[in-house]
Amino acid sequence: MSQTLYVGVYLDQSLQKALDYEVPVDLISLIKVGVRVEVPLRNGSAKGTVAFIKQEASFPTIRPILKVLSMESEFSDKQWKLAEWMSQYYATSLQKVFKCFIPPHVRRGVKERVRIFVSLEKNHEETLRFCSELRISNPKQADVLSFLLEQTKGAFLSEILEKGCSRSSIDSLQKKKWIKLQSVTSDEELILEEEFFPVKPKTLHEEQRAALLKIEEALDLGTFSSHLIYGVTGSGKTEIYLRAIEKALSLGKGAMLLVPEVALTSQTIERFRSRFSEKIAILHHKRSLGERSSAWEELKSGKIQIVIGARSAVFAPIQNLGLIIVDEEHDSSYKQTDEQPCYHGRDVAVMRAYIEKSVVLLGSATPSIESRYNAEMGKYSLHVLRKRASNAKLPKIEIIDMKRTFEKQGGFTHFSPELLNAIKERAEKGEQTLLLLNRRGYHRMQICLECRTVAKCPHCDLSLTYHRQENYLKCHLCNYTRTVLAACPECKVPGSLEFKGFGTEHVERSLKAIFPSLRTLRMDKDTTSKKMSHEELFQQFRSHKADVLIGTQMIAKGFHFPSVTLVGVLNLDASLTIPDFRSPEQVFQLLIQVAGRAGRADLPGEVFLQTFLPDHPVIQMAAKQDYDPFYESTLEERRLFQYPPFCHFIKCEFSSLDPKIAEAQATTLFSHLCSQLPSTIELFPVAPSGHPKIKDLYRFQFLIKTPKISLVTPYLRVLNIPSLKIDVDPLSTFF
Ligand code: ADP
Ligand code: ZN
Ligand code: ZN
Repeated sequence: MSQTLYVGVYLDQSLQKALDYEVPVDLISLIKVGVRVEVPLRNGSAKGTVAFIKQEASFPTIRPILKVLSMESEFSDKQWKLAEWMSQYYATSLQKVFKCFIPPHVRRGVKERVRIFVSLEKNHEETLRFCSELRISNPKQADVLSFLLEQTKGAFLSEILEKGCSRSSIDSLQKKKWIKLQSVTSDEELILEEEFFPVKPKTLHEEQRAALLKIEEALDLGTFSSHLIYGVTGSGKTEIYLRAIEKALSLGKGAMLLVPEVALTSQTIERFRSRFSEKIAILHHKRSLGERSSAWEELKSGKIQIVIGARSAVFAPIQNLGLIIVDEEHDSSYKQTDEQPCYHGRDVAVMRAYIEKSVVLLGSATPSIESRYNAEMGKYSLHVLRKRASNAKLPKIEIIDMKRTFEKQGGFTHFSPELLNAIKERAEKGEQTLLLLNRRGYHRMQICLECRTVAKCPHCDLSLTYHRQENYLKCHLCNYTRTVLAACPECKVPGSLEFKGFGTEHVERSLKAIFPSLRTLRMDKDTTSKKMSHEELFQQFRSHKADVLIGTQMIAKGFHFPSVTLVGVLNLDASLTIPDFRSPEQVFQLLIQVAGRAGRADLPGEVFLQTFLPDHPVIQMAAKQDYDPFYESTLEERRLFQYPPFCHFIKCEFSSLDPKIAEAQATTLFSHLCSQLPSTIELFPVAPSGHPKIKDLYRFQFLIKTPKISLVTPYLRVLNIPSLKIDVDPLSTFF
């Protein structure tokens, strides 16, 4: 006798729970967990994914599914396991986790190859006002506009849809003439269609050879193992990655390389493409849905065995996965923070490797404290590369006490005389310089000297940055812009306003004033979204169209510019004072990374680290470029305060248009958890987030500190509160 079967189906449209359906007898043989189905919903139908199969119905009047849409499960058993782990660990419904595994191009069955570009039809100001109104009447449409307001030119339809916006909201906004849609041809293809000259492997140096040997042995075993390569900048980690991929391919296995978003440049891609004759799938958010859809299909069918991508590529359906490499494993771009699941790409990579019985390789010149600790605890095998490859030496780092410069010059200046001399010298020799500053714009704020009123964004709790070229004030959280204040809106005292603080735009202008013939380029969020893309700026600098590249931390990551011999860190002091337990670690990483851009080839490198805090331990340790003491002392501090890796934090953040609602909801959950959670778990009281208001939404949060995630997540997973974002292992406990 054949028994009736039932399935739980997660619908693509935003529903929180799986709905039950009956499986008609003739479809039973086609039903597997993970197949796509069409089901009746109200008077119409909807598409979804089978989440589970069961023998009993939860209620009697259950409707049958209409069609099975895919013969194959969208999920392998292994992916399924990973999804379940993510759902549990990150306290997020399976439905939301699925979105990572079944990206929009698969969900929608996109096959189109044209890219549609969406941009605003009306001016920024007007749109922003309308968007604030929409927040209440139609939040979905408001989401679309607010995403577009953040972009300088506009965005591809695929990107907007990926943010969870619906096509119907976009269509209505188009009808109402707030946005326009245009078909465009793609220039991204250039990266891929370039000819690459094959490059021969290098003869490995001793330390590389030792590391590779262990990794090859692990690949031969075909079981799970995890490795941390701690190798100073320029020590040749990439060469090890290349060899490890070669080995995986020779065993008939697939390989995945994850890199931070900004490092996904043609230079990186070229290094890999020039070594493998096999096709490589590049998963990049700038590629169209159609392009990604075909890459996805080819990976699934096993036609492509190598994939390179940023965070979300960790979900690529690569077959027979033998090797996962996470380059710059400490990089914060691996963590998804804007929506649940707030997963960490590196941690998902390790879990995926565990489930797939593959080898996972984490690499960094400044491993995260967590990963280094995992190595110390024996969870990861540690491989150390202490020397730079090809005889290049690590650059010399000199601390420049800016208090002295200040005294000597009788006031503030961006550049110490030492740095200025060095910049001039390099330009004369035809060498290049990088200048790092972690703030963009011209002036940080406009402030009234009488009453201390600061020009603030009306939508966010943040001071507005002055941009000189455009001559406006701009919010760096929501991109609101307005004209410069003529008089103080509070005290109205004439002439009381002043600009304070400096950004990259100011630095560039000041440098040009000192050396008019110096050729400069600026790379920050403003320039990469406007004048030229990140890739273009990068190519320009590489082809020596400028002597100096000035930029934010974007310039610190993964670049290999052989003629950069000087790096100047103008001022990172503010980052050291952010009240977050991870800020010293992040500053240390940034300093080492940016210093590592100097003297990577034959020419020796030099670094000037300007600071008003020359005795700060992080500055001192970074200048010595010695990771080990930094790790030891940071770990001791974390142990003392019982911070990660000795505990886990979970951040619960509520947002609402009404601050009272956000606070009340946070307080309610806080009290509920206080009474439910075991006493070993610590709760930190409800407080406004580091950015208390963003895009008209007020944010309140509280932190949970627990020895184990699994002690808390069962209580959080069952919650269904749309205004709540749960961030497990948050990067920042403050923002
Ligand atoms: P990392 O990824 O550790 O920062 P890279 O892999 O980019 O370092 O290597 C830095 C430079 O050293 C590159 O130009 C690379 O080609 C070169 N290199 C790497 N390994 C060797 C080697 N064994 N012999 C000579 N040069 C090497
Ligand atoms: Zn704002
Ligand atoms: Zn005033």
